[in-house]
Amino acid sequence: MSYYRNKQDYKKRQQTITWIIVVVAIIYICRLFFLQIVDVSYKDNADSNAFLKKTIYPSRGLIYDRNGKLIVSNQPVYDVMLIMREMHDFDTLAFCNTLNITKEEFITRINEIKDRKKNPGYSRYTPQVFMSQLSGEDYGRFQEKQFRFSGTFVQQRVLREYAVPHGAHAIGSIGEVNQKQIEADSYYKKGDYKGQSGIEKTYEEQLRGEKGVEILLRDVHGRIKGRYQNGERDILPKSGKNVTVGLDIELQQYGEELMNYKLGSIVAIEPSTGEILALVSSPSFDPSLLVGRKRSANYSALLKDPNKPLFDRPMMAMYPPGSTFKLVQALVMQQEELINRNTTFPCHRGYSYGVGRKLGCHAHPSPLNLPQSIQNSCNAYYCCCLREMLDNNLAKYKTTDHAYDVWRSHVTSLGFGDKLGVDFPNEKGGLILKSSRYDKIYGKNHWRSSTIISISIGQGEVLATPIQTANLAACIANKGYFYTPHIMKSIEGDSIDIKYRTKHYSTIDSQYFDVVQEGMLGAVMAGTARIGRIDSLEFCGKTGTAQNPHGKDHSIFIAFAPKDNPKIAIAVYVENAGFGATWAVPIASLMIEKYLRRSISPNRLYLEERILNAKFYEDTPENGTESKPD
Ligand SMILES: [Zn+2]
Repeated sequence: MSYYRNKQDYKKRQQTITWIIVVVAIIYICRLFFLQIVDVSYKDNADSNAFLKKTIYPSRGLIYDRNGKLIVSNQPVYDVMLIMREMHDFDTLAFCNTLNITKEEFITRINEIKDRKKNPGYSRYTPQVFMSQLSGEDYGRFQEKQFRFSGTFVQQRVLREYAVPHGAHAIGSIGEVNQKQIEADSYYKKGDYKGQSGIEKTYEEQLRGEKGVEILLRDVHGRIKGRYQNGERDILPKSGKNVTVGLDIELQQYGEELMNYKLGSIVAIEPSTGEILALVSSPSFDPSLLVGRKRSANYSALLKDPNKPLFDRPMMAMYPPGSTFKLVQALVMQQEELINRNTTFPCHRGYSYGVGRKLGCHAHPSPLNLPQSIQNSCNAYYCCCLREMLDNNLAKYKTTDHAYDVWRSHVTSLGFGDKLGVDFPNEKGGLILKSSRYDKIYGKNHWRSSTIISISIGQGEVLATPIQTANLAACIANKGYFYTPHIMKSIEGDSIDIKYRTKHYSTIDSQYFDVVQEGMLGAVMAGTARIGRIDSLEFCGKTGTAQNPHGKDHSIFIAFAPKDNPKIAIAVYVENAGFGATWAVPIASLMIEKYLRRSISPNRLYLEERILNAKFYEDTPENGTESKPD
């Protein structure tokens, strides 16, 4: 019995061993096949000491203005890279002399590289940036002697170069990626650059291109001996796409000059496309300040500047739109058939409401009809309008809440109360409160027009960005629709995203825009904006003054020109400048003339001079520039 069992066992054991041998053999053959035939990169890995795979950075897409002028191009910069494991017999002193640094600086930098807190993902085997953005002179000197320093090489990268010192906010800048950005997208490695603001950020993927790889041969000491297989195995980089923006860089420059020493914004839009022609945020700065090794020092200085040059005012500053909002009221009330061209309301130097309360108005004839109310910017007229809508037509609307909701939906259809969706990071949406919010503040059925009367003249809880009011001007120019404003015009000849080529219709019928345009024409020809008149050009505008609880009011003007077949819609904001007509009107009118006629007529040069010379703030003395007494 026991013999039989042993024989059985023996056979089983023999079978098992055979199986193990077969399986091992199969695995071995497969691996061999895979290594030798399938995985062609095996040789590279096996002999990785013999190769250096160097990233070739693509040239970033060039940026042209709407007239084909090159405004942003590239310049090469050079980083000194090193691979710790390969730094054999390293002559530190000679290395330091070549790069013009001290031995202490060298040690500090090496410790920084090795510090995994400062340099997450550090490895002795991978290239590390030792010194970035060498000057041309340093690069030349290092390149000559580089063969002496094993484990080092020079990495070329691409930085931006600007043809003109204008358009910094719209174009934005590129900067080194941070750890979070590296983790979010495997395209980026430490030391890489990425669009950090403006269209550089929005269109990063189109502009950046694709990286390539250059394979270099090295000797046993790790020194580079030449290209591997004459570069046949290299991967060529793919350049980023060249783009054209809607900006007219000459108009942009002119706008920045007019806004010199003033705080505020200019937004100019082509109504027939939604393309942004000029986007001025003042104070502005030279975009080349944010390029190269001085970037972070300059950035800190700009950040500390009390006038906030880095703040994108056109997209992010929210102001009460003031009297420019009367145009919105005029449209909504007509659409709701509460008023028409001939409706008049009296104005007794203002509008009385509640017990002994009055919202004032300036001197003008009374009563006024609708276009006259725009031309003269009557406050009382629009208070009466809001009363008609919220209080006096409850047979139609049932409740004040509902009447307000109807009002709000018209207002938001004109681009207020939410982001427009501009191709620009960090756009803000402004504010048009919901009725539920008023219910919360005052209690349901406990509020009416007199409670929120200031919204009728664009104050109180109404807030809008300069881009939103410029868009209103474009929408009125188009008599009822707008294209989402956008900076990009085309990407390497292709048209841009369909969302920027779609008409957004407001809830206001086009017929109601005629009388609003008539009032705006009156304002420029003979009303509040007559200082901005341009010979033999009919154009439409509306002044505004945004109340500023922190100081002098802000001056606002929106306009479009010409009245028929408009080519430009514009919004100008000058902070702390007081009444709208004094500063914002001439600036807008000069911009319009410059864009349509390319020069300013001699009889208006006095106006240009007045604006160019006006200073609303003084330079802040920089540290150390004040002279000391002997
Ligand atoms: Zn009035």
